[in-house]
Amino acid sequence: MKFKELAVYFQRLESTPKRLEMTDILAELFKKAAHDKKVNIEEIIYLSQGHLLPSFKNIEFQMSEKLLQKSIVLATDKPGKLVEDMFQKIGDYGKVVQNLSDIDSKNLSIADVYKKLTELSGFFGSGVVAKKTEYLGILLKSTTPLEAKYIVRIIMGKLRLGVGDPTHLDSLSFAYNGDKSLRKPLERAYNLCCDLGLVAKILFSEGIKRIEDFEVIVGCPIRMALAARLAGASEIIEKIGTCAVEAKYDGFRCQVHKIGNEIQVYSRNLENTTHMFPEIKEGTLVQIKNKNVIYEGEAIAYDPRTGECLPFQTTVQRKRKHGIESMRKQFPLKLFVFDMLYADVDITNKSYEQRREVMASVIGKGNVLEVSPARIVKTPQELENIFEESLLDGREGIVAKRLDGTYKAGGRNFNWIKLKSSYSGELNDTIDCVIVGYYFGKGLRASLGLGSLLTCVYDKKDEIFKTIAKIGSGLTDAELVKFRKMLETVKVKTKPAKVDSILEPDVWVEPKYVIEVQADEITRSPVHTCGKVHDKDPGYALRFPRTVDKIREDKDAEDATTVNEIINLFNMQGRKK
Ligand code: ATP
Repeated sequence: MKFKELAVYFQRLESTPKRLEMTDILAELFKKAAHDKKVNIEEIIYLSQGHLLPSFKNIEFQMSEKLLQKSIVLATDKPGKLVEDMFQKIGDYGKVVQNLSDIDSKNLSIADVYKKLTELSGFFGSGVVAKKTEYLGILLKSTTPLEAKYIVRIIMGKLRLGVGDPTHLDSLSFAYNGDKSLRKPLERAYNLCCDLGLVAKILFSEGIKRIEDFEVIVGCPIRMALAARLAGASEIIEKIGTCAVEAKYDGFRCQVHKIGNEIQVYSRNLENTTHMFPEIKEGTLVQIKNKNVIYEGEAIAYDPRTGECLPFQTTVQRKRKHGIESMRKQFPLKLFVFDMLYADVDITNKSYEQRREVMASVIGKGNVLEVSPARIVKTPQELENIFEESLLDGREGIVAKRLDGTYKAGGRNFNWIKLKSSYSGELNDTIDCVIVGYYFGKGLRASLGLGSLLTCVYDKKDEIFKTIAKIGSGLTDAELVKFRKMLETVKVKTKPAKVDSILEPDVWVEPKYVIEVQADEITRSPVHTCGKVHDKDPGYALRFPRTVDKIREDKDAEDATTVNEIINLFNMQGRKK
C-alpha cells in the first residue's frame, strides 16, 4: 500500500467532524491494510495515532521549527522568508509544505516512509542537525504535497486528525467483524498493554480468541485503574460494605515494571519516567527478589532532616532531565506501594485482598519501598476516623478499596473510592481542567500578556473538550508569565477541532496542559458547553474557580476530569444540601 493512499485516508478523516464517518473511514483503511500482505498493520495504527511506536516508547524527532523550516526550503526550493511568512499566517508547517511543494510522488510505500521516519528519529551525535535537515528535505522532495503535509505533522507531533482511541477501537472491530461488538475485548487488551499496534496485529494474525485471552506483558504499561468519588463515609460503606482504607498520598503515581534486572517506571499518563527516579530503580532491585513484577505506588519526596513529606510540586521537579542527582540528595524519595499487578504471573484478576497478600510477601525490607498501610473498616464512623487521622498526617484524604475488587485496567469504578478534604463550599474535590485558550486581560495583567484562562473538561463519549470555567484567580504575576510562556508553544490560529466552546478567547491553544482547579461549587450556566445537551439548555460551570498552580504534568489532556464526573459531582452537591 502506498503512503499516498494513507495520506488520502488522513485527509478524509481530517475533513469530517462526525465520529461515525471517521469510524467508517478508519475501518475501511484497516480492512484494506489487513488484506495487504506487504503492509504491517501496526505501522498504520501508530501513524494514524501520530507516532512511530506506542506513545510510552517516547520516540521523539527532536526537530525544532527552525530545522523544519530549513528542510522545507530544501524540499521546495522556496526562500526561507516565504516559508516563515506563510507559517506566521497559517500556523501549521504541514499546510505550509503542502502549499509550497509541487512535487510528483516517487510512489513511496507506507513501509518506505515508516522506515525513513524511523531512521530520522534515530539520528544523533555530531553533525546531527545538518543530517536531519537534509534527510527530511530529501524525503519531502519525494512525496506529493498531501503526503508531505502529514509527514511534517507527524514529525511535529501534531497530526490533528481529531481521531481518538475509542474511534480506533470501534474501527478495528468493524474492520474485523463488520460491527462494534468486539469493542469491549479490544479495549480490555489495549488497556492491558497500551499498544494498539500490537492489539491490531494479534487480532488480524491470530484472531479474536487471542485478544479475549490477552494477558499483561511485563514491560508494556497497564492503563492505570482510577478511583470513583462519593459524597462521604456513609455513602462509601453503603456502596461497598466492609472495605480497606488507605491514606491518599499526594505524590507522583508510578507503575514499576521489573523485568529481571531491568526496571521501568511509568507515570499516570504512561510516560517512561525511569530517569526521574533512580531510587526506585535501586530500591526495587534491593527489595524485590521475584524475577518479573509489576507494582504501583505513590512516589513522594521528603525532607531528609525532618522526614516530612513534601508537596507534589517538589516531587515533580524531577521531571527535568538534569539535576536529578542533586535533587535526590536534597529531596530523596519514598515510594508508598499500594498495589501489585504481576508477580511472576498476572494477578490483575485476583481480589484486592489476595493482591495485598502477594504484595506483602514480595516487598522485602529496605529504605525506598514501603507498603501503604491499610485498615479494614465496617462502619462509616471507623472510616471517618481514619479520614480525619489521614488529614492530620498531612495526607490528601483516603482511598477506600473494595475487598473483592479486581484491578480494572483503565477504569474509574467503585473498586476504589476516593474521599478528599473539603476545601470550601460544596465541592470536596479539585477538578483537573485542560487549558484551551487565554484572554489578555486588562491593566497590569494585559502587560503580562495573560489575564485569564479558558478551561475545559473532557467529554469521553464524543471525544471532545467542553468549556467549564474562565479562570483569572489564584495566579501570581510570576505564574501568569510562566503560563503565558508555556502556552506560547501550543498556540494555534483557530479553535482546535476537538474543542466545543461558545466563548472565544483572545488566543486559542491546543488542549495539552492540565491544571488543578479549586472551586466553591458546580453551577448551571448558559455560557459553558460542559454537559449542554441542546443549545437552549444550560451547561455546567465552576463557581469561583481558582488554580492552585498545580500543573498536572502526569496527565494528558484526555486524562482531565470528564463531563460525567462533573455531573456526578453536581448531583452529589445536591444530596449534601
Ligand atoms: P487526584 O487528582 O485526586 O490525585 P487522579 O485523577 O490522579 O486523582 P484518581 O483515580 O481520581 O486519580 O485518584 C486516585 C489517585 O490517588 C491515584 O491515581 C494515585 O495517584 C493516588 N493515590 C494516592 N494514594 C493512593 C492509594 N493509597 N491507593 C490508590 N491511589 C492512591
